[in-house]
Amino acid sequence: MTKKINFYAGPAVLPQAVMKKAQEELLSLNGIGLSVMEISHRSKDFDAIINSAKDKMRKLYEVPENYEIMFLQGGASLQFGMLPMNFLKGGSADYVNTGAWAKKAIKEGKVFGNVNIVASSEDKNFSYIPKDIKVSKDAAYMHVTSNETIGGIQYKEFPQTEDVPLIADMSSDILCRKVDVSKFGVIYAGAQKNIGPSGVTVVIMRKDLIEKGDDKLTTMLQYRTHAEKGSLYNTPPCFSIYIVKLVMDWIEENGGIDAINKINEQKASSIYEVIDDGDYYKGTAAKEDRSIMNVTFRLPNEELEAKFIKEATEAGMIGLKGHRSVGGCRASIYNAMTLEGVETLCKFMKEFKKNN
Ligand code: PMP
Repeated sequence: MTKKINFYAGPAVLPQAVMKKAQEELLSLNGIGLSVMEISHRSKDFDAIINSAKDKMRKLYEVPENYEIMFLQGGASLQFGMLPMNFLKGGSADYVNTGAWAKKAIKEGKVFGNVNIVASSEDKNFSYIPKDIKVSKDAAYMHVTSNETIGGIQYKEFPQTEDVPLIADMSSDILCRKVDVSKFGVIYAGAQKNIGPSGVTVVIMRKDLIEKGDDKLTTMLQYRTHAEKGSLYNTPPCFSIYIVKLVMDWIEENGGIDAINKINEQKASSIYEVIDDGDYYKGTAAKEDRSIMNVTFRLPNEELEAKFIKEATEAGMIGLKGHRSVGGCRASIYNAMTLEGVETLCKFMKEFKKNN
C-alpha cells in the first residue's frame, strides 16, 4: 500500500509513529492481553493513559496549575452552546466574527443571552483578523476563533481583555505553537485535527470559572461535573483519549511545541512562497493573518481548480479541495503533516503552473 499525502481539514493526518504504536498495541495494551477498547475506564491501565495524556499536555502547553484539562464529548460544536449555557446566564458576551466557525459559536451564544459582535471581518469576506479589538466592560467573556479552518486566517496576537475571560476555539490550531495559556479563561478544541481522532474535545478551563458555571443545569452540561471527576463522570471516549496520549508522546519525542512550531512555520512558508511567486495562484487570506494550519488559495479559474485537484489526487495528494461553502483549494498542514509531504505539494504546484 502506498500511503496518501493527506491534506484533509479534519479528521486529518495523524503521526505515522502514533498509528504504528496503536496498531502494535491494538490487541494487547502493554502486554495485558486486552485492547484499550476492552478495558474499564476505571481500570488502573486506563487511569494511567488519561493521566498521562493530561500531564503531558499540561507540560507541553505550559498549562498553569490553576487550569483544569478536561476530555469531553460532543465536539467543539457542543462547546459553542455549553459555554454560554454555563457563563452567559442571560447577560452579555463579546464575540469576534471571523468566519464560518465564529458564526456557529455566535448562533449558540444567542440562545442564552445577548451577543455583542465587537469586531468582524465579514466586510472583506472573512479574509483577515480584525485588529484593536476592544472588550466591553460588562461582558461575561469574549469569544474568538483562533484559526478559521475554512477561511485560512489565524490570530498572531490575541485581544487584551483585562478581567473579562477570553475564550478561544482552537480546534484547528491547538498545540501548533506556544500560547500564553494564562491569558485565556478557556481554550477548547475538537481533537480531530491536531491532536488525535474525533470523539474527544479538550477543554482547558481556569478553575475559578468552573465554579462560576450555572449549577442549575443537567449534570453532564456542567463543567464542575467533569472537573470534579477527572473527566470520568461517565464513560469517556477511551480510544480517542488513548490516541491523544500517543500524540502527546510524539510531540515530546519530537522536541516539544517550539520544535513542532518551527516545522509548521517552515511548511506554511514554503507553500505561501509558491503562491506568491507570480499571480497564477492567489492566496485568499490577508498576508499578515495567514494560517500556518490551513493554506487557502485560488487558481485563475474554476476549471483549472478542478483539474488541479484531480491531478493532485491522482498523484496521491488527498483533500486539497476548499470547503464547499467557499470553493477554491485548501491545504491543511497540521502538526502531523511532514515536511516531505509539503515539498511534494510545492513541486506539484510549480509543475502544474508550468503546464497549465
Ligand atoms: N471550530 C473549528 C475552528 C472547526 O474547524 C471545527 C470543525 N471543523 C469546529 C469548531 C467544529 O468541531 P466539531 O466537529 O468537533 O464539533
